[in-house]
Amino acid sequence: MDNHSENFTQVASYDYVIAGAGCAGLSLLYYLLQSPVLSTKKILVIDKTFKKGNDRTWCFWEQGAGIFEHLVCKQWNTISIHAASTESFLPTHPFTYKMIQGQDFYAFVMGEAKQRSNIHLQEAAVTNIETQGSKAFIKWEGGSAIAEKIFSSLLTVSQLQKISKHITEVPFLWQHFKGRLVEFENAIFEDTTAKLMDFNVDQKGATGFMYVLPLNARKALIEYTLFSKDICNENEYNVELDAYIQKNYPSMQYVIQHTELGAIPMTQQVMAKSKDPIYVIGTLGNAVKASSGYAFAFIQEQVAQIVSQLEKGNSINTEVHTTRHQFYDAVLLYILANDKMRGSEIFSRIFAKNKAATIFKFLSNTSSIWEDINIMRSLPTQIFLPAAIKVLLRRA
Ligand SMILES: Cc1cc2nc3c(=O)[nH]c(=O)nc-3n(C[C@H](O)[C@H](O)[C@H](O)COP(=O)(O)OP(=O)(O)OC[C@H]3O[C@@H](n4cnc5c(N)ncnc54)[C@H](O)[C@@H]3O)c2cc1C
Repeated sequence: MDNHSENFTQVASYDYVIAGAGCAGLSLLYYLLQSPVLSTKKILVIDKTFKKGNDRTWCFWEQGAGIFEHLVCKQWNTISIHAASTESFLPTHPFTYKMIQGQDFYAFVMGEAKQRSNIHLQEAAVTNIETQGSKAFIKWEGGSAIAEKIFSSLLTVSQLQKISKHITEVPFLWQHFKGRLVEFENAIFEDTTAKLMDFNVDQKGATGFMYVLPLNARKALIEYTLFSKDICNENEYNVELDAYIQKNYPSMQYVIQHTELGAIPMTQQVMAKSKDPIYVIGTLGNAVKASSGYAFAFIQEQVAQIVSQLEKGNSINTEVHTTRHQFYDAVLLYILANDKMRGSEIFSRIFAKNKAATIFKFLSNTSSIWEDINIMRSLPTQIFLPAAIKVLLRRA
């Protein structure tokens, strides 16, 4: 008996281990539980802390009802963009812009998991994942297991900060923000419109905007967001949030009900590669759209793809971004990261010249070449062309 098989007799054995019970891990778990073929597989779900609080809200667009429709707490059918001299209000039809609160998502999927005897939950920090023979091995503080496959989304912002320091080949920006859920005494919001970007804020030498999502006439999530190379300290967001609320809703009384801080990587750097039997998913698995920071819908696409491949016994491909759209992402990121054109100008032009549906399709990687050309034509040729050539040369 070799060392590896000795190990196998001592540790618990699973069909699948899901390492990381955030958006990607729990989405994968839920899709597996819905699968007629895979719902009885023995699965270990491990996270250093199973989340219960509302650490994030996810917004995304969708046509019709999605798999988590019952968790959608608010939806909008108009989006708006605001800059110093322009304003665009765009109906989202046939898409709807939707919001799901993290705490509802975590409670729902964990509730489903707890009802199944084939799902084991382990709260512990993972210290190692590696291949052993044809199996995957995972170790955590106090235990270990082997599995046919491990799906990992283990990544923290501090790990990403370290990784980002060594990225030189491709641009790396943070989309970082602080949001406040505020409730005013009076009705002041028009709650059918999600204000996607209001650039009338301090740009801090980068791209800065306020994101205002009214939940009803008195309550909204107001988020100061920057696309820049470094994450701010919390006070810098507070100063901008205070100033924005004071300027736009002067002398109105409000209470802050909740806050959220976030930092999402905007890069095409491959963080980790999937190789059977260990697969990376979520942010670690490059599900984040590099030019926008949106990830929720791509994560759903990624896990649906994995489950379908597992059901059919096919090899697993975790890639969700097409080569064509990765090229546009690279061009937009290059323009932003090298300050070739201000983000406020880029996004105002794109939203002024295109329908929301076309932009949503472009951002979802489902637009046609003709629609892509229309979006790219929103940018001045003297900016777009040299950036496109630069990206093509980098890839050559
Ligand atoms: C505040 C915020 C708001 C966002 N809003 C949107 C949005 O509106 N729309 C959108 O499309 N995207 C949004 N995103 C981006 C993206 O959808 C989320 O970051 C999403 O949660 C990523 O999912 P994930 O599973 O990859 O990572 P996470 O959800 O962060 O899950 C990773 C898990 O791994 C665990 N973990 C890490 N290291 C270890 C370890 N060593 N041992 C054990 N466990 C470990 C963590 O505890 C965590 O639970 C937002 C991100 C943030 C931070």
